[in-house]
Amino acid sequence: MAENRPNTGNSGGKSPKKLRVLLRTFGCQMNVRDSEVVCGLLRAMNYELTTDPADVDVVIFNTCSVRQHAEDKVWSEIGRISKRSTLNLPAGQAGALRYAKPIIGIIGCMAQNYKEKIFEKAASVDFVVGPGDIDKIPGIINKLSKNRLSMLECRIWETDSPRRPEDIYHTGFYEDKEHAYVVISEGCSNYCSYCVVPYVRGELHNRNHKEILKEIEGAVDKGIGRITLLGQNVNAYLNKDIDFVKLIKLVNSVKGLREFSFVTSHPKNTSLDLFRAMAETEKLKKFLHLPVQSGSDRILKLMNRGYTRKYYLDLVDNYRKILKDATLTTDIIAGFPTETESDFLDTYNLVKDTEFDAAYIFKYSPRPHTGAARFADDVDNAEKEKRHKSILDLQRGISNKKRCLKK
Ligand code: SAM
Ligand code: SF4
Repeated sequence: MAENRPNTGNSGGKSPKKLRVLLRTFGCQMNVRDSEVVCGLLRAMNYELTTDPADVDVVIFNTCSVRQHAEDKVWSEIGRISKRSTLNLPAGQAGALRYAKPIIGIIGCMAQNYKEKIFEKAASVDFVVGPGDIDKIPGIINKLSKNRLSMLECRIWETDSPRRPEDIYHTGFYEDKEHAYVVISEGCSNYCSYCVVPYVRGELHNRNHKEILKEIEGAVDKGIGRITLLGQNVNAYLNKDIDFVKLIKLVNSVKGLREFSFVTSHPKNTSLDLFRAMAETEKLKKFLHLPVQSGSDRILKLMNRGYTRKYYLDLVDNYRKILKDATLTTDIIAGFPTETESDFLDTYNLVKDTEFDAAYIFKYSPRPHTGAARFADDVDNAEKEKRHKSILDLQRGISNKKRCLKK
């Protein structure tokens, strides 16, 4: 554990009380699940979870670094909390800010992205914990709160562990009483050139399939009937001789489970075998989120996606042949470096012809550490906006048309 704790004096004296913790979650389903795990760990250590920002001892931000915008939201929330605490202080006592405000923690992808530099960017932050170290959060809060009672200033950062301990997934805490997210793999080794995930979440690590099944059985015992299997690239799952196709068959056979789905799939690891298995597993939702990112072969290559436009379109054809009436959604990035009008039209036409049920469209955002960060971000913001809006409008029309046809 790294620490930085100048001694600022000792007033001591207060007796320990049950600390109230507010946990704010940003980003993807993986973070939603991590927040549940952290809540489970905190409850087990007798902390009280609250949603009331006016009455908290600890505020934790579980953060996302996938786009700059996601990070900006967190910086501004931290600023708001610190400002509110300063305003509450009597005039001339701004130096006591660290004891008037709640303990503030940053966990998740931003923690790993900035590590202890977070303390320079936001002086009111007290602890920083990366995705591999979330099991340590209750102990860190305990230590910080004890130090505060003694007026000891202390900052803690934990960002070194490549992997979290397996048993934290068995805290048994789920926000939703009917549906649970179940992580099957962590991290990613694909290194798409725009993506920060491998740098903040580490290389792909597959959980043991027996542990996954044990977690699902535990959720079902609590009355949860629906689950979503989670990973950055679920189809790359491999544990001993159990690949993703075998895993979904095993999940399908869990007694009491009513329905399940999975996200996210990478086209290069998606096979006809998977589509056939999807057709055969009666509990599996006929739904596939298959991010294409771009319709231009040149841009796909620069993105290091490992497939071509034709390969992707053939996959879609086969998916729809094997799984009739199944749902298909995607992700698109508009304005990747060097994207020309003609590259953009390739994407636009792919979206028009494929008729996805839904698409998540993002403006390219340069990310630290990534391969694409070496390229100039040369599609100007107005042009990115225009391309983003153009695909958004196109997809809105398609989604509405498909919704009406299904009614
Ligand atoms: N693992 C998934 C995959 O392979 O598609 C998704 C991971 S990422 C958290 C979710 C989506 O964010 C990506 O599919 C991509 O469209 C988008 N994204 C990732 N990095 C981005 C960036 N630098 N700028 C804009 N969008 C980005
Ligand atoms: Fe990021 Fe690519 Fe991995 Fe998805 S597959 S998490 S986009 S590196």
